[in-house]
Amino acid sequence: MTNFPVDLIRKDFPILNQTVYGRPLVYFDNAASTQKPVQVIRAISGYYETDNCNIHRGVHYLSQRATEVYEDTRKQIRQFINAASSQEIIFTRGTTESINLVASSYGKQYVNPGDEVIVSVMEHHSNFVPWQLMCQERGAKLRIIPIVESGELDMNAFRGMVNERTKIIAITHVSNVLGTINPVKEIIQHAHTFGIPVLVDGAQSISHLGADVKDLDCDFYCFSGHKMYAPMGIGVLYGKEKYLDAMPPYQSGGEMIKEVHLSGTTFNDLPFKFEAGTPNVEGVYGLRVAISYIQELGMENIAVYEKELLDYATEKLTAMGDIRIIGTAKEKTSLISFLIGSIHPYDAGVIIDKMGIAVRTGHHCAMPLLEWYKIPATVRASFAFYNTTEEIDLMVEAILKVKQMFG
Ligand code: PLP
Repeated sequence: MTNFPVDLIRKDFPILNQTVYGRPLVYFDNAASTQKPVQVIRAISGYYETDNCNIHRGVHYLSQRATEVYEDTRKQIRQFINAASSQEIIFTRGTTESINLVASSYGKQYVNPGDEVIVSVMEHHSNFVPWQLMCQERGAKLRIIPIVESGELDMNAFRGMVNERTKIIAITHVSNVLGTINPVKEIIQHAHTFGIPVLVDGAQSISHLGADVKDLDCDFYCFSGHKMYAPMGIGVLYGKEKYLDAMPPYQSGGEMIKEVHLSGTTFNDLPFKFEAGTPNVEGVYGLRVAISYIQELGMENIAVYEKELLDYATEKLTAMGDIRIIGTAKEKTSLISFLIGSIHPYDAGVIIDKMGIAVRTGHHCAMPLLEWYKIPATVRASFAFYNTTEEIDLMVEAILKVKQMFG
């Protein structure tokens, strides 16, 4: 294993230091939500202890200070994802809201009857249903990129789907069920030869791979704070200015307004045009510190360590013989979905939980994908940089117990 300071890092995450059912807690549900370091927890309580105030509209000291932190964080995110301008960074509640915003607003502006929208069969419902609804409303057709057995996109099928009727492509960077890292750069390059914009769902990639929106050349990019060591209820939509400028507001009220008259309303400039109502200021305070935390550890170091965890887990599970791993792509993040013989994942999950290990079982909000595999559910273990190989050994022990009980 590399010299990653995991013991030191674990001290920053107080929640990990506890027992459940008399056993040390092993937290392998990071794809659902990551834990928060004390630095982030302190940033949130610090906000309420010294800075709490509504932002933008106050001339007084507290309001100015909180506004400054809020807007500084926007600049920090611009730099973190390498966007051209902080006007292209919109604060949202998370990935789901970011995608709904684009589907609704872009749809109104650009999608008409007979047009087509492309998503893949491996999308999380949050990057599937908003497009399905928008297509129904606009009289457009939703087209679905299939996958191959390994859980990789069928790129030939994708290329055959893109045409002059395609109005937007929405694709996840990393699958939350398979761990597959999709070739989004290649997808974007192909789409751009037709002048079609691409939205990348970065919910499962941002904490493992980071993001460089300039290098990807994506037109929209979405992520959630809570999946990258920041609080819940805060997220980001990045969008190229040329699209955001042309798109109508998503919600109205508050800072998104320039002037209101009895005769009508004019809207604020970017990014405020898309930030209606009082924003989640405490969330932004937390996100700011979470990003700094990740940057201090170094994205490269995180990726190397997490790859070691994935390889270790894959090797251990494969050696058990009757474990079927769902998602065997060449390029994966540190996530592993599996089935234990013919034992139902829910039964397995209950026993694994009683051994103190938090894994997720179910369809993982990706029902079209599980239908494709003709399975109702999987067990999913998803690792973060605070996890260890010793914890993976405990999971293997728990799986052996499951097999003893149900096998
Ligand atoms: N997209 C993917 C790939 C996800 O894994 C998730 C959450 O699991 C989402 C979108 C939705 O994220 P949120 O619930 O934070 O909006």
